[in-house]
Amino acid sequence: MTATLRTFAQRLIQISSHLTPWRTLPITATMDSSVRSQYLADNPPTVVRLEIAPHFASLSAKQKRYAHHLSRAAFLGTRVTLAQVSPESPVIYDLILSLHAATSGDYKALAKKTQVSDEDVAFWLEYATQFLGNAGNYKGFGDSKFIPRISPAALKKLAAVDQNSSSLFEKAENTGGGIYETKDAALMHLGYPEAGHLTAYYPDSPTITKEEISIVGDVLEEKKLLIENTRLRKLPSGDFDLLIASGVTNPPASERDLGDISSLDLTGKLAGKKLNLVFGDYQDEMAKIALEFKKARKDAANEIEEKMLDEYARTFSTGSIQGFVESQRWWIKNKKPTVETDIGFVETYRDPQGVRGEWEGFVAMVNQERTRAFGKLVDAAPSMIPKLPWDKAFEKDKFLSPDFTSLEVLTFAGSGIPAGINIPNYDFIRQNEGFKNVSLGNVLSAKAPNEPIPFVRKEDDHLYRKYRDPAFEVQVGIHELLGHGCGKLLQETAPGEFNFDSKNPPTSPITNKPIESWYKPGQTWSSVFGSIASSYEECRAECVAMALACDFEILQIFGFGDGKEDISNEAGDVLYVSYLQMARAGVAALEYWDPKSRKWGQAHMQARYSILRVFLDAGGDFCQIKSPNGDAKEPDDLVIHLDRSKILSHGRPAVEAYLQKLHIYKATADFAAGKKLYDDITSVDEWWAEKARPLVLKRKTPRKVFVQANTVLDEATGDVKLVEYEPTLEGMVQSYFERNV
Ligand code: ZN
Repeated sequence: MTATLRTFAQRLIQISSHLTPWRTLPITATMDSSVRSQYLADNPPTVVRLEIAPHFASLSAKQKRYAHHLSRAAFLGTRVTLAQVSPESPVIYDLILSLHAATSGDYKALAKKTQVSDEDVAFWLEYATQFLGNAGNYKGFGDSKFIPRISPAALKKLAAVDQNSSSLFEKAENTGGGIYETKDAALMHLGYPEAGHLTAYYPDSPTITKEEISIVGDVLEEKKLLIENTRLRKLPSGDFDLLIASGVTNPPASERDLGDISSLDLTGKLAGKKLNLVFGDYQDEMAKIALEFKKARKDAANEIEEKMLDEYARTFSTGSIQGFVESQRWWIKNKKPTVETDIGFVETYRDPQGVRGEWEGFVAMVNQERTRAFGKLVDAAPSMIPKLPWDKAFEKDKFLSPDFTSLEVLTFAGSGIPAGINIPNYDFIRQNEGFKNVSLGNVLSAKAPNEPIPFVRKEDDHLYRKYRDPAFEVQVGIHELLGHGCGKLLQETAPGEFNFDSKNPPTSPITNKPIESWYKPGQTWSSVFGSIASSYEECRAECVAMALACDFEILQIFGFGDGKEDISNEAGDVLYVSYLQMARAGVAALEYWDPKSRKWGQAHMQARYSILRVFLDAGGDFCQIKSPNGDAKEPDDLVIHLDRSKILSHGRPAVEAYLQKLHIYKATADFAAGKKLYDDITSVDEWWAEKARPLVLKRKTPRKVFVQANTVLDEATGDVKLVEYEPTLEGMVQSYFERNV
């Protein structure tokens, strides 16, 4: 299933951009202070450490060097990401580092020396931390600008600590939109210049239009040139420069994707104008990055990795996007490596045109223990899937496990860290050669110390904290492998040919009558279910997880209990927390429901809300949401009461009844029934919208910012050391200072 965690990130961006208030503001409005205050940096941001030490320690010296060079390659692109966000971001980045250097990271000394209050210094560090976590002054999730809480006057005083900081401060105020500027509402969001928004993908081109961008795109598409690694500049003459990221400014024709062509004639409205191919965008960074790939090659694990690294070095050195495509082909072939990586201009969400990629790169390692558990789960599939509420007519003859790996991230450079990744994005590779679907374990499990857990009873808090990670692991494992992996689509594969007995069609367990619908030739799951397909399928997979998590043999695979049903032992604890976690996610999901459009913007969260509704309707007071003030109509908080003793008697049957419908409607292409079911159960009534949702928004914490380790290579011995940092504001800045990119 390609409905993935990466799509998760994508959808979050979609929802946040239609939830954000700018669309309701007149573009030219001058904002009053209350509007301005919504753009202030998080106070404080949620800072967590990306825990990696034990996984890094398990690598060999050679693997550590490989991981080190690739981490350097990824992080060396930090300034590229900054430049892709806004013109002022690279300057603000330098200001952050310069202020850190001024008193060697001693912020108390900095406050004293400059006579700036500790509170103002803390405001600066909060901003710096959020800035570094987003690689720029626009949020990686949501694309809206944020500004420091420290006043411009106080920051100016702070920057007066030395000449370098002082001049960087002036520059930060006057470059691009400026660090503090908020007066133009449209510029507070990334988007087309034509609509007044900010973009750095079309530099120095204030008059460039969407139409011009499209014409240039069409001309390049005709030449079969992919453009993820480019920016586009409109010149005063009306000609255009295609800026191609490369470590050299003049690659030989033999190494260029378009050979000796140095400019192209534009067409349509731009007929008579030229498009020049200009190499060397981000030249310094690209040259250094290409070099790290060459160094990493010495420590590659096999020939496939060597070839993959050669192509990476080629694309970043010469600007050949074909080199990147080839790197991805080798990447697909490099099955389940110990050290996994992918680096480049990958995701195109932030280019308003959606065609140019943002720099990102990760290096991660396989979690061996979890991989073993997942492997056993796949092995158990033939005995587990028959326990689901349908017979074999609605199941594949042979279980095929989807591609899924759980990784622990060492390095993630870019504007934010997703919970999972499903790449490459090139459909021509996905369909013919495949893709990889990975979940990022230490990103999912990262949490701030003593982070409050809203909506959970005090009595459950301890158990919840203790088992939420294993419970989530069980849920993710079943969801990804058995959930998305199970089920059959009943199809008429060609006119008159069926993949089921069409003369004697299977009986629907819902109606107890022979099925009457199936996929007609040419129809697919997504063509029939359309816009609800993604969330509906996530829901089906989540329900499989909730049904099979009740199986004590599965809990034993993950190391809990002895395989015998016993709700009171540790396996029962994990099961209880799984249900509690799902109910909690269902409540928290309301954040992703937009009251204006009355629509859900996030596939997984919509699914979880529906499962909570199933719990609430399971009978026997199995699951209830209570308010501490005892007033259900006007609650002052939401507290989940879940009866552990009724999970097997009430919870599981209710989930299975729901799952059965989801599954059979999917299997039989019964869109009408599926849509009705899903629309009804994911509808948000007045109480949820007006009473519950505001409480959910009140309890939400700022997005997490991850403090990542650095790796340091001892050139003499070839040993690589891992350097970790405190999960604090200072620790975040220090990690970037020492990274020195
Ligand atoms: Zn899924």
